Amino acid sequence: MKDLCSCYVDMVNNSTNQSLETETVSKVGDESAAACSMGLVVVPECEISSDGWRAINNVKDITVGEENVEIPWVNEINDETPSHFRYMPQNFVFQDAPVKFSLSSFSHEQSCSSSCIEDCLASAMPFNCAIAVDNGFAYTADGVIKEDFLEARISEARDQRKQVVMFCKECPLERAKKTEILEPCKGHLKRKAIKECWIKCGCTKRCGNRVVQRGIHNKLQVFFTPNGKGWGLRTLEKLPKGAFICEYIGEILTIPELYQRSFEDKLSFPVILDAHWCSEEWLEDDKALCLDGTCYGNIARFLNHRCLDANLIEIPVYVETPDQHYYHLAFFTTRDIEAMEELTWDYGIDFDDDDSLMKPFECLCGSRFCRNMKRSKKTKQIMNRA
Ligand SMILES: [Zn+2]
Ligand SMILES: [Zn+2]
Ligand SMILES: [Zn+2]
Ligand SMILES: [Zn+2]
Repeated sequence: MKDLCSCYVDMVNNSTNQSLETETVSKVGDESAAACSMGLVVVPECEISSDGWRAINNVKDITVGEENVEIPWVNEINDETPSHFRYMPQNFVFQDAPVKFSLSSFSHEQSCSSSCIEDCLASAMPFNCAIAVDNGFAYTADGVIKEDFLEARISEARDQRKQVVMFCKECPLERAKKTEILEPCKGHLKRKAIKECWIKCGCTKRCGNRVVQRGIHNKLQVFFTPNGKGWGLRTLEKLPKGAFICEYIGEILTIPELYQRSFEDKLSFPVILDAHWCSEEWLEDDKALCLDGTCYGNIARFLNHRCLDANLIEIPVYVETPDQHYYHLAFFTTRDIEAMEELTWDYGIDFDDDDSLMKPFECLCGSRFCRNMKRSKKTKQIMNRA
């Protein structure tokens, strides 16, 4: 008998549950609309492309060669295959998001000087890219996040008393609902970000302050979980605490575009980029952004949810833009992880929020801190009465 209290996110195939990989069809945007100096373009129409099929059929590498490493998939449980999606190693603008990566928008104050040495971490001098975090750079010479910075982020994520929650005067999420009465903002977690060196810095690509931009480098595997959670992602090697695993990749949407998709009943798994929403008086609709990995995404789409004590944490990372509205969402390990352990992150879902953009699902995470317990108990009581 299935334990109702254990957690479940089927990120793939199961049509009766929330799924990242349910077929959806995006409207084609005006491809000329998102021209920019770094080649950021509007994503083409979402369809089952030959690449999509290639990804599914390619047992050896679900990334179809888009990453530094091959990431195989395996199903030792049944005959299911991962459903089709287009693998993207980086975020792309869907249509209206005004994300522009340009050298001119990046001032000298926002990058290290050109006299900067090869590796910024090796220098005793503080560089501009270090000022965004406490005590210098976020990374150690071993390429992991510094212990104190990581611990502060973990305790903020897990302990409400340590969280700084900001409220919009008029919330873009509420405006996008287009209801007659605007509900008050539900609040946004103010989160510290990492700033990495970039092209305008004097250092090289091997600088220790460039981790996320160098991409995935661990041995990972997509696998079919034996405990009813559908597909998941696991590591095939031991991972140290603070190691970068992957980014959450998807289409960059404005919040109105996201709501448009949800109105059209397209299943999506949105990640709202709201870490700095309240840093200005009034946030315009097109500046409120999110990532949607439903149609186009990377291996992060296979990460299952775990309440509170997940072994990954997401941290905002700035690389190529000083724009506070757009950042990368990168996953780092919260502890040492053994080979073959499943990788999980806490989606931050409030299971009692019926207003959520995410399709509700029954949590099967198995964590003793599972936030879905109350709902599961209620379900059990109803079932017992029946
Ligand atoms: Zn550097
Ligand atoms: Zn708000
Ligand atoms: Zn720099
Ligand atoms: Zn749970």
